Amino acid sequence: MELKSGILYYTLKETAQPAETEAPRLNFSFRSMTAAGKKATVYTVTAMNDPDLVTRLHEAGVTFSENAGTGNMVLLILLQYLIPILFYVAIFSFFFRRMGKLGAGGGLMGGLGKSNARTIDGGEVKTTFADVAGQDEAKESLQEIVSYLHNPQEYTEIGARMPRGALLIGPPGTGKTLMARAVAGEAGVPFLSISGPEFVELFVGMGASKVRDLFKEAREKAPCIVFIDEIDAVGKKRDGIGGNDEREQTLNQLLSEMDGFEGNSGVVILAATNRPESLDKALLRPGRFDRRVPVELPDQGGREAILRIHCNRIKTEGPIDLSAIARITPGASGADLANVINEAALCAVRSGRHAVTQKDLEDSVDVALAGKQRKSMVISPHEKEIIAYHEVGHALVAARQKGASPVHKITIIPRTSGALGFTMQADEDERFLMDKQEAFAKIVTLTGGRAAEELCFDSVTTGASNDIEQATSIARAMITRYGMSESFGMTAFEQVVNPYLGNDTAMNCSQETAARIDREVIALIDKAYDQAKTILKDNRSKLDEIARVLIARETITGQEFMDILNAPVALPPKQEETEQE
Ligand code: ADP
Ligand code: MG
Ligand code: ZN
Repeated sequence: MELKSGILYYTLKETAQPAETEAPRLNFSFRSMTAAGKKATVYTVTAMNDPDLVTRLHEAGVTFSENAGTGNMVLLILLQYLIPILFYVAIFSFFFRRMGKLGAGGGLMGGLGKSNARTIDGGEVKTTFADVAGQDEAKESLQEIVSYLHNPQEYTEIGARMPRGALLIGPPGTGKTLMARAVAGEAGVPFLSISGPEFVELFVGMGASKVRDLFKEAREKAPCIVFIDEIDAVGKKRDGIGGNDEREQTLNQLLSEMDGFEGNSGVVILAATNRPESLDKALLRPGRFDRRVPVELPDQGGREAILRIHCNRIKTEGPIDLSAIARITPGASGADLANVINEAALCAVRSGRHAVTQKDLEDSVDVALAGKQRKSMVISPHEKEIIAYHEVGHALVAARQKGASPVHKITIIPRTSGALGFTMQADEDERFLMDKQEAFAKIVTLTGGRAAEELCFDSVTTGASNDIEQATSIARAMITRYGMSESFGMTAFEQVVNPYLGNDTAMNCSQETAARIDREVIALIDKAYDQAKTILKDNRSKLDEIARVLIARETITGQEFMDILNAPVALPPKQEETEQE
């Protein structure tokens, strides 16, 4: 049958009856009589775009009818319009939920504005003051809060009002977050912690409602500790210009919640920031964060104690001298030191050992300061010579001056930070003051590298850029901040704007003064450079000798350096073999 075969490839379905229910689409039903005309076969097919079909069906003598399928039609239209709508709703609700999760606990609307503080129940915080080293003063201030939470009656009986909040301030990585957890651990009370940025929401008013929620939760759980980390995200000064409505509303809510506590409600609020200068005055007034707990960078003893805590968590082997490590890490924070220990452990594993040695620790300090060694870097013998002279120049100038720190190590192994070598100085004891002579000696030492290059190779290279930067900033600080210049005396022309983050300064003087300061900075550095050159000229044979040793060994210790320097006779001039190594 022509017709039958003609439509076969439209997935023709052979059924005994017109199968309306089974066909989901608008369709045709037609009957085709068999040649014998006895038994009718009913075919149901989908509509097809064929204008001649009807004609052809008539010609073939087929009985057929159009089946509009009203029920299916409604369904079809519904599907056609509903599916896309449902699809969009699904997408929107997904994104709303995501936004909600960033700020609130989830859900399309119900979750918006809900505080999502992480709550740790009393007794479950395992951190204690024993995990925090080198912050004895901070611990002492917080100890009082701990004992209040343990025993509030003692305080209420005498009529004392507990400070409502304590603000931990200090540079990043000094253990502020750790300390707050330790307070909760010591006190054994619930700990509600939230980070400042989590308050700042996309929608105005949500941050404020989160604050409300947080404090409601805190009141229910009292006695407890509420910890707001990085509070500067919400507590920034309200300056009135181009204000951030959402942030200000959140801050206002925070202020009023803090006021809303009864004297001894048992809720203690801790907060941490490394930008105290940017906080709103209202936040700092008594009755809110009336106690400031500075968490400063650790001193030498503190560094040793921090190293010990972290060192106890790893396996060591052989003699470990942590005070030696503490000595060469001035300015390191607790987080830096924790990282030094961890890097040392990783290094031991990398070299297939099962315990950390002192050498791992020392190498790890180098990695923290200058990056990993770049063994694959090929440096030409000539460049290697220049680098060696540069570094020995620093060391020699340092050693020949009063007031400069002793040399600890000189190395010319390139590092991943881009350093081609470095000279490390380390004081025996921690220094807290720097006098004018020492500050100047520092600049002279910094110029020593370039001075050696110029003296021995009559060339200047790009290698001194970091030295130049540092020398300039010391010279500038001497003149504008430390009152160490004759012509300006005790006038400050620059202020440090963020003492805990990078020490950026803001100039505060007239144009003429600025120009005079520049001239004086230049003169001071020129003077230092001349002095460095003089020192090196006077010690030329030692310079050559030590540089030769350094090229051969790549790294020499401060002791080895001093031994050569103090040896009475200089070695004979350059030997060929050492040149080629
Ligand atoms: P901050 O909040 O001040 O930026 P953290 O408290 O997050 O610093 O410290 C980061 C990590 O550094 C801590 O988890 C801890 O391992 C280590 N650390 C920092 N300070 C100390 C310290 N005083 N004693 C022991 N470990 C410390
Ligand atoms: Mg922190
Ligand atoms: Zn240098």
